[in-house]
Amino acid sequence: MPDRNRAPAVAPEMEWDSPMYKEAVSQFQNVAEKMGLDDNIRERLTMPQRSLVVTFPYRTDEYSKVRTAYGYRVQHVLTMGPTKGGIRYAPDVNLGEVAALAMLMTWKCALVGLPFGGAKGGVRIDPHAVSRRELQRVTRRYTAEVIGMIGPQTDIPAPDLGTDERVMAWIMDTYSQHQGHAVPAVVTGKPPELGGSVARREATGRGIISLLPSAAMRCGVAVDGARVVIQGFGNVGRYAAIAAAEVGCRVVAVGDLTGAIHNGNGLEVGRLARYVDEVGGVKGFPGADEITSDELMAIDCEVLIPAAVGGVIHAGNAGDIRARLILEGANNPTTLEADRILLDRGVLIVPDIICNAGGVTVSYFEWVQDLQNYFWSENEIVSRLREIMIRAFESVLEVSIREKVDMRTAALMRGIERVARAKLVRGVYP
Ligand code: NAD
Repeated sequence: MPDRNRAPAVAPEMEWDSPMYKEAVSQFQNVAEKMGLDDNIRERLTMPQRSLVVTFPYRTDEYSKVRTAYGYRVQHVLTMGPTKGGIRYAPDVNLGEVAALAMLMTWKCALVGLPFGGAKGGVRIDPHAVSRRELQRVTRRYTAEVIGMIGPQTDIPAPDLGTDERVMAWIMDTYSQHQGHAVPAVVTGKPPELGGSVARREATGRGIISLLPSAAMRCGVAVDGARVVIQGFGNVGRYAAIAAAEVGCRVVAVGDLTGAIHNGNGLEVGRLARYVDEVGGVKGFPGADEITSDELMAIDCEVLIPAAVGGVIHAGNAGDIRARLILEGANNPTTLEADRILLDRGVLIVPDIICNAGGVTVSYFEWVQDLQNYFWSENEIVSRLREIMIRAFESVLEVSIREKVDMRTAALMRGIERVARAKLVRGVYP
C-alpha cells in the first residue's frame, strides 16, 4: 500500500521530465544524500516553484504569414530574493531543459552568496533563421507573455545561448512601456546606454583567472610562466586568455570552431583577439602551428580551460589530458566518467558552478547599480568580483577538505546548504 501522505521524491512523469532535468535532480539527490539533507527540504527542492509555458504568435516579414512559437520561464526557488537566470533562444529548447538550468542557477547563486534563487527562460526558435525584425517581434511578444513573472523585485532575466545585449534592450523597453516608465533593473546584460554594467563582457573570463592563484597553489603549480590551453575563444575564452596573460601565464594553445593553434613560447593574446575579430576564428593565426582539436586537449600544459561547449572532456580523452589543473569555463564540459578518471589521476578540477560564476556576479552588480541609479568604476567592479570569487572558492575548498569530497561535490553542498538553511528559517506557509 503506497504511503498517500508522501509524494515520491521524483514522480515518474513530472511535467519537467527530460534527460537534462533527471540528471540535475539525480546530481542533487546524490549530494543531498551525502549531506543528510532534511527529507522535506529535499523533496521540495527537486521541483521548481513556478513554471510557465506559453505559445504566442509572431508575424514574419512576409506580413500575411503568422507563426506560433513556444516560450518558457521557470523559477526554481523564491526563498532568498528575486530569481535570476538567462533566456535562451534555440530550436530544441524545452521545459525540462529550462527547469534543469533554473535549478543549477539556484545552486550557483547560493554558492557565490548572491541574494537570488535560480530561474531560466527560453523560446523555441532558431535565432539565426529569423530576421532581426522577426527576432524583435518574437522578443517583445515573449516579454508580454511572461510580464507577470518578471520584474526587478521578482525575476531578472539575462542573456544566454542565442540572446544578447540587443535582445535584453528589447525586453527592457517592452517591460518599461507596460509600466509607463523606464525600468533598467528588469534585465541584466544590457547595453551600457541603458544601465548595463562596465566589465560585464569580461566578467566570466576574469572571474576564472581570479581563482587561478589559489587553485594553482593547491596543486603546486607556479602561476608565473604556467602554460595555459584554452578551448573556445568567444566571450569566456578570449577574456580568460587576456587575463591569464596579464598574470604572467603563457597561453600556448587555443581552439575554436575553425580549428586549433599552438605556440610553445606563448601566443600573443591581444594580437590573436584582433585577428579573430577580423577573420572570424583562430585558424591561420600567423606564428602558430595548426593542430587538431584532439591534440589541443592533450597538449603538455599546467592549466586547461574548456570554455566552449559541454561534454568535451569525456572518457575517450580524459586519459590523454596532461594539465594538472582544469578550470571549467563552459557549463558541463566534463562528463561524469571523465571526472572520475581525472580525479583518480590527481588532477584538480575547479567546477563550472564556481569557476564561471563571474558572469552572474557582475550581473548582480549591474542590478544593484540600476536599483540605486549609482554606477561604480571598472576598478571597483573588478576588485569586488575578485573578492567574491576568492571567498566562494575558499569556502568550497574548506568543505572539500572537511568532508573529504571533490570540489564539484563540495560546491554543490555549499550551495544546497545555504538554500536549505534559508528554507528552514522561513518555514512553511500557512
Ligand atoms: P561564445 O559563443 O561567445 O563562444 C564560444 C566559443 O567556443 C567560440 O570561440 C566557438 O568557436 C567555440 N566553440 C563552439 N563550439 C566548439 C566546439 N565544438 N569545439 C571547439 N570550439 C567550439 O560563448 P561564450 O559566451 O564564450 O560561452 C562559452 C561557454 O561558457 C558556454 O558553455 C556557456 O554556457 C558558458 N558560460 C558563459 C558565460 C558568459 O558570461 N558568457 C557565463 C557562464 C557560462
